This record gives sequence, structure tokens and C-alpha cells, in this order.
Amino acid sequence: MARDPRYDILFEPLKIGPVTAPNRFYQAPHCNGMGRLFPDSMIAMRGMKAEGGWGIVATEQCDFHPTGDVTPFTETRLWGDMDVPYLAGMTDAVHKHGSLAALELVHNGHDTGNIYSREVPIGPMHRPVSWHYHPVQARAMDLGDIRAYRRWHRNAALRAKQAGFDIIVVYAGHDGTVPSHFLSRRHNQRGDEYGGPLENRLRLYRELLEDTLETVGDTMGVIARFAVDEMMGPDGLEWQNEGRDAIEMLAELPDLWDVNVSDWSNDSMTSRFAPEGYQEDYVAFVKQVSSKPVAAVGRYTSPDTMVSAIRRGVVDMICAARPSIADPFLPRKIDEGRADDIRECIGCNICAAWNNLSAPIRCTQNPTMGEEWRKGWHPEEIAAKGSDTHVLVIGAGPAGLEAAHALGKRGYRVTMAEASAAAGGRVSRESALPNLNAWARVRDYRLGQIAQMPNVDLYLNSPMSAGEVLEFGANHVALATGATWRRDGVGRHIHTPVAGADLPLAFSPDDIMDGKRPPKGPVVVFDDDHYYMGGVMAEWLAGEGYAVTLATPGLCVSSWTEYTLEQGHIEKRLVDLGVEILPRHNLVALGAGGVELVDLVTASRDNRPGALVAVTMRLPNDALYHSLNGTPEKLAAAGVASIRRIGDCHGPSTIAAAVYEGHRYARELDTETDPDGVPFKTVRYDLECGR
Ligand code: ADP
Ligand code: SF4
Repeated sequence: MARDPRYDILFEPLKIGPVTAPNRFYQAPHCNGMGRLFPDSMIAMRGMKAEGGWGIVATEQCDFHPTGDVTPFTETRLWGDMDVPYLAGMTDAVHKHGSLAALELVHNGHDTGNIYSREVPIGPMHRPVSWHYHPVQARAMDLGDIRAYRRWHRNAALRAKQAGFDIIVVYAGHDGTVPSHFLSRRHNQRGDEYGGPLENRLRLYRELLEDTLETVGDTMGVIARFAVDEMMGPDGLEWQNEGRDAIEMLAELPDLWDVNVSDWSNDSMTSRFAPEGYQEDYVAFVKQVSSKPVAAVGRYTSPDTMVSAIRRGVVDMICAARPSIADPFLPRKIDEGRADDIRECIGCNICAAWNNLSAPIRCTQNPTMGEEWRKGWHPEEIAAKGSDTHVLVIGAGPAGLEAAHALGKRGYRVTMAEASAAAGGRVSRESALPNLNAWARVRDYRLGQIAQMPNVDLYLNSPMSAGEVLEFGANHVALATGATWRRDGVGRHIHTPVAGADLPLAFSPDDIMDGKRPPKGPVVVFDDDHYYMGGVMAEWLAGEGYAVTLATPGLCVSSWTEYTLEQGHIEKRLVDLGVEILPRHNLVALGAGGVELVDLVTASRDNRPGALVAVTMRLPNDALYHSLNGTPEKLAAAGVASIRRIGDCHGPSTIAAAVYEGHRYARELDTETDPDGVPFKTVRYDLECGR
């Protein structure tokens, strides 16, 4: 199909100093948990972005000196010549598709504990390092250190050139790099020419930009990636004050401004807390004070919003990390007139979580993310079917929908049976929870794709029994029947049902999602799940006027959401709603008088009046699977060659895991897999590098 002419502007080339981007799509630097530790995976993932049409493909942050050692995080690294070849592998993969490769030079200064390199951390002042509360201090850089720092940065730029990069990104963002630490009044109270007035605090960043331009600027573009606001009011940088002044002072220096807000949890806000394009209010001024092109992120997934941001003079180039993870082929789809096929990011930050866990990136929407090399999975291509067989998929939640979608793409005949009146399973239920509506995109993308496939049929209101499955006579059966929340307290900290769990005052998240409610009054949400559901239940009930206490054995509310960068935002929202938060508390029992809790530190008991919403764990809905699996002779007689559980019915987990399992099932049908082997490619880099 031809491109919609409304989107032509997105495909105009853009000059960035001496280089030219082929279009207006800039895959922003984004961490991926692969970096230097899984270079083949990192290279294949970046190459896929270029194949998908991103005009600029950047690395994640690339550390350039052992004094800024980010261990245990697995970013790219450019400490010396030995690091050039694998980065050259990435530039080759990107250039193969006509895109520009950018490298983001980063030194995290007084954030890192340098637990691998054992170098003393450095920063503008003496102060303890911030990450992990390591018992380590950074020392204040003297003028000799600053000269050395500039030299390391220049050397790294030269090595980047050697590796074939086209662009250097000089980074002062996220409250996380040496130049941003110097810029900050909070962090910098120096008395020399690098402290005091803004001009002095900005000096190091100016010098880094000038050094880079002087060293490689004749052949490479130089992007200034700069946070203009820290979203903390006058305690930090504000776009109306020093944020704007700083841009004005350096306005014409870089070849392109890539502007955002700080810190990372504000820059990568989830859809639960911010809509598409939310950074525009902060960065819109930049084009008014500089004649250089401007790029900005904002979780843009809609081409209309992108065009509007350019036409309104907010940006010249669309910068995107998460939209490029959810759909590496987003630009190509717009170019080919297939914008409806875009797999839109849902803004859940599972991608960020895996990076923060130092493991290869995963994406809720894109099951192939991080698997491009390891499993050879292409986000848009899949092998044709291995046989002329008919697959019955039971359950149209994320696992079932993705299985049917990918099986359909392979050309299988697929029938989906869904018990309820609507497709989407947990995604439909959970996207109706407060501020989670963007999650419905997991369902909507797949329904949209399946609707175009004549070989896939979806039947709603079709609960399947074992007899009906046998009667149906499919060759393969995938059970994606989901899981159900317990309401009896059993989970991580409680291993047998609590007394009183059978009382009508005990509720599970499923009960609440089904519309059941305790009598108006006090409610204790007991959260032993630690991801989003406990906090969402508290938010919902508090919003309806209940007096909510959230008790959790964790150290804080929704503790796992530290990884998704949401914990602080969640806690603030609950506090604003008047929710009482009781960390380090376990559930003891439920009675007519209320909910009994125990303080895990002091062992003191506390009785709270009201009802209980227990958010602890889910049990797989696998009765159908077991009844079918228990009668192999009947299966054989019915011509069923295989039955498999997928998604939450197999092992309750994240939506990302359910989508992945559905996809994997479809990929592996009619292929040989070794049940005893490792189900992906691995390399022992430490031995094979020959040193
Ligand atoms: P997952 O996350 O693994 O995809 P979900 O809980 O989101 O799981 O979805 C499971 C879906 O399966 C639900 O929509 C549910 O209505 C459906 N389902 C469960 N049991 C049956 C059954 N016996 N027949 C048809 N559909 C079923
Ligand atoms: Fe978007 Fe979630 Fe995928 Fe990250 S994991 S790219 S936030 S859908």
C-alpha cells in the first residue's frame, strides 16, 4: 500500500551536522539488559530497528571509563580499543539498512559504586554514591580530574568513530551523569569556575560539546541530550528558569537538541501516570530559542500525533524508545500505508524492569524483543505452517490471542473458543481498572490482526468442556484458560488459608473486578503480590470512598514496581488519596470484628475493622487441561495429537509472559525442540574471546 501523504513530513531527510538522517524517526538511546554482556543479542535487536525504518538507531548509554562502572547493569561499554569490534558489529547491522548509528557517551559520576572496577567514584562534590546505597563515597573532581574527564570523553568519541558510528550523543539527563551533576545546584556547591552561577555549572557540558565537535564534528553529528526539567519544582531544574537559560546559552552549539525531563522515572513515565506526548509542555520552548533541529520523546505511537508535533513546531524529529521496542517496524508500517498494523506500546515499563534486573529486555506487546538473535525471531516474519492441521485455542486472553495471531500468520487453520462475551481475558478486565486503559492495546492489536485472517475464527460465549473439545476434533489444542486470584491469603508469606477467609468479608481482585464490593467503610488491601494489583485495588476503592489501609509484608507499597520506575508515583498517588500504608505487616486472620495484622518487626498485633481484599497469588484454571490429559486414549481416538497449556493456565505471571508463551507455542508447533536442551542460542563470551 502507498503511504498516506499526510505522513510525508515524517519521511523528509534531516541534516544533523555533517550527516543526514533519512527520515524523522530517531530510536532514542534505550537500555536493554543486553549491552556488552550479550552483544550478539544487542546487535541483532538494533539491526532490527534499522530494518524497521528508524532513521537513527542509538545505543543505550555507553560507559567510557572505569570510574563510571555501572555493574551490575549491562549497558554498552567503551573503555578502550578492545571494545571497538562489538560496537562496530552494531554499526554494521544498522548501516545495512541505510540508517545512522548513534552512540550515547555516559559517565554516571557519583551514582555508581564501581563495584567491578574498584575505582574511586567521582563527581562535583564529596558525597556518598546514590545507587543501591553502596557504602562508598565519590570524591570531588579537581581541575586535573576535569581535564582527564574531558580527555576520556574525547578518546571515546574517537573510538566511536573508529567503530563506525555517525553520531555522538553527549548526555546530560536523568540526574544521572557527570555534566548533569555539575549542572545541578543540589549537587554542585563548588567555589571554582565549575560551580556557582549557571554559566559555571554548565561549563563542563559546554566543554564536552565543544570537545566532541572539535574532535569528530567534521564527520559525525553531535546531539545534545539534555533534560530541561526535573519535575521537582524549584528544588531542581525547571524549564521556565535554568532549564531554558541553559538551552539559550548553548543554543547553536550542538547539531541537534534531544530534550526531555528528568529523572528516568519521569522521562519514562508509564501510561498509568502520563499520556502520549506528555513532555511537550516542558520541551516546546526549545525550538523557539535555537535554530537547530529538535527531537523529543513522549511515547508517541500515533502517526497523527507525530505529524502534529512537527507541524505545531514542537519538534523536527520523533524520538522514541518504547514505541520502537513494542514495534521495531513502526516507521516502515507508516511508510507502507499500514499504520493500523502498528503494535502500540502500552506504557507498562516491563522493558525497563528487565534492564533494571540486569536481564535481556522483554516487551509486553512485542514477544520477539530480545529474542532476535537468541531465538532467531523476527517481529514481522514467521515460518509458514509445518502441516495442514487445525488448532483449537481455548481462551482469548493475551496468551490465546497471541497464539491464534501467530498461528494464523503461519497459515494454520485456527479456531478460538472464548467462554465469555468479550475477548481479551485479563487484559480486558485489567484495562478497566483506574488509569490502565492503554493496556487494552494488547487485545486490540491482536483482534485487529486476526480480523484480517480468513483462517482464524473467534467464537465468543463458547465455554468448552472436555467432551466438547474431543467432539470438536482439532489436531492440536492450546489451553489458554488463564488463572484466578485466591482470596484466602495464601501466597509468599502465608502458606495455608487464614482463618475467616471463607467469610463474606473476604474479597479477591477478581471479585472486585467482577463488581462485587464490601459494605461502604474501612477495607484492608493485603498485598503480598508486590506488583501493580495491590496498589490499583487500593487506588480504586479509595477513589470510590472506602477508607483504605494497604498492608504488605514488603518494605514499601508495590515494591516490585521499583523495576518499572513506578514505585514513587504509586506511593504518592495512594498517599494523595488518603490510603494508609502499613509496610512490613502480615495478615493473620479475618473475623467479624475486622482484619487482624501482625507487625513483622515488633510482632505486635493490630486489628483493623472492615473487609479484606487479599492480593496474594493466582491459581491456574487448568482443570480442563488435566481432564483431557488424563484420557490419552480418548484424545487419540478424537485425532488430537497434542494438548498444551500456555500463559497463566501454565504458570500465572505477567501479561508479557502470557503473550510470549502464546507466541512461542505458535512458533514451535510442528518444529523439533529438545525437551532436555536450552531453548535458545547461548555463547560463552568469556572463553571465546580468546583472552
Ligand atoms: P492469559 O493471560 O493466560 O491469556 P487470561 O486469564 O487473560 O489468561 O484469559 C483466559 C481466558 O480464557 C478468559 O477470557 C476466559 O474467559 C477463557 N476461558 C477459561 N476457561 C475457558 C473454557 N473452558 N472455554 C473457553 N474459554 C475459557
Ligand atoms: Fe511499551 Fe510495555 Fe513494551 Fe515497554 S514493555 S515497550 S512499555 S509495551
